[in-house]
Amino acid sequence: MQLQLYNTLTHKKEDFVPYTPGTVNMYTCGPTVYHYAHIGNLRSYICEDILEKYMAYTGLKVNRVMNITDVGHLSSDGDTGDDKMLSGAKREHKTVMEIADFYTKAFFEDCDALNIKKPEVVKPATDCIDDFIKVISTLIEKGFAYEAGGNIYFDTSKLDEYYKFGDFSGEDLAVAVRDDVDEDTNKRNKTDFVLWFTKSKFDDQELKWESPWGLGYPGWHIECSCISMKFLGEHLDIHCGGVDNAFPHHTNEIAQSEAYLGHKWCNCWFHVHHLNNKNGKMSKSKGEFLTVSLLKEKGYDPLAYRFFCLGSHYRKSLEFSYENLDNAVTAYNRLIARISKLIPRSDGKADEAEVEKLLTSFDEALANDINTSLAITALMDALKSDASPAVKLAAIERMDSVLSLDLIPHAQALLNTAESTDDIPAEVLELVEQRKAARKEKNFALADELRDRITSMGYVIEETREGTKLKKA
Ligand SMILES: [Zn+2]
Repeated sequence: MQLQLYNTLTHKKEDFVPYTPGTVNMYTCGPTVYHYAHIGNLRSYICEDILEKYMAYTGLKVNRVMNITDVGHLSSDGDTGDDKMLSGAKREHKTVMEIADFYTKAFFEDCDALNIKKPEVVKPATDCIDDFIKVISTLIEKGFAYEAGGNIYFDTSKLDEYYKFGDFSGEDLAVAVRDDVDEDTNKRNKTDFVLWFTKSKFDDQELKWESPWGLGYPGWHIECSCISMKFLGEHLDIHCGGVDNAFPHHTNEIAQSEAYLGHKWCNCWFHVHHLNNKNGKMSKSKGEFLTVSLLKEKGYDPLAYRFFCLGSHYRKSLEFSYENLDNAVTAYNRLIARISKLIPRSDGKADEAEVEKLLTSFDEALANDINTSLAITALMDALKSDASPAVKLAAIERMDSVLSLDLIPHAQALLNTAESTDDIPAEVLELVEQRKAARKEKNFALADELRDRITSMGYVIEETREGTKLKKA
């Protein structure tokens, strides 16, 4: 099935055709490792993970690269505000490198908990300073960059077209207004951006490197262009990131990469929209700081959050509330309970043609601009179909190679808690799943409450040496 993706560059859904047939070069903007990741940012990584796994599912070979921003990212995505890494280090009385190591590790632990595959290449910006210097030098030689006040700037007036994506939301314009207030008088044009800082307001910047322009450090945008070109070459098939990165970050990436290469760089731009609450975009600085650890503390299985994210399309904002998350938990546990009932009835013999039949609508859903909620519907429909349990299980296993919800392992674990789940109502099995998650996160108050609810439904739950067992009262 031909994969179609919405491309921010062309503003339409189009056939995704890699530059080299059969191989996809995919780049993802990684985290700035100055704090824990907000679950809103992690939504982007979940959607990108589905995209990558779906492409692999269709037989494409995916080369994926991600940077880790450990230097140069100021608190505005332009060049103003405080250095994020430096403020993280000050906040925790640690060195910048200690902060970077700690939060890089934390980020990948969150990814693990959410079943997000780690890209083959993950590169911290501080590992590639020589590459940045090389590209910046070429940009100066080609007349696309200039020195002013000790810093090197990219000259956006030298481009035929700077606003490549062409459409900016109110939020982007707000960034532009903020930049106006804190105007850098070295800039020849308002949209110019820093490639290399030597003179900055941060006298105590810890990390500095020798460069032809003096001791300094790179701007934020240059790292993604350089790391992508270094590992994926001159033709990038797809670049991913949160929609708030489209401007200025990705706009600047295109500007400097194409000025450097002298030809088009990336064909397709995949942008994931925000996680909102009632008051708008959720972030570290607004409202409760929602992390994977916090969800775990509250007794949520991180995969239930993944399931929640898959319930909506990546190009729509998703409204987070605990009520919405609870609904997703219920649906997720119900799914597991239903699958657990298939396992004892399966004779293990799945006819490939029958399995393929169940996979068709799943494939169609994802080929249509990664419509994950329709893919979940396809999975539910497969469960309801009159195919044999073995066929259903085989299809679900294949679907879950993309969805990564651990459906069959969870169902198997649930099955192990009872002799036979056949006569046990799905509601009871859901509660058993929820209780298991609560116990795993040591939320014993919630676990006890769930046990009481299970008891009130006529079932007894026992902890034995072999694990949790469920019996009729
Ligand atoms: Zn980036």
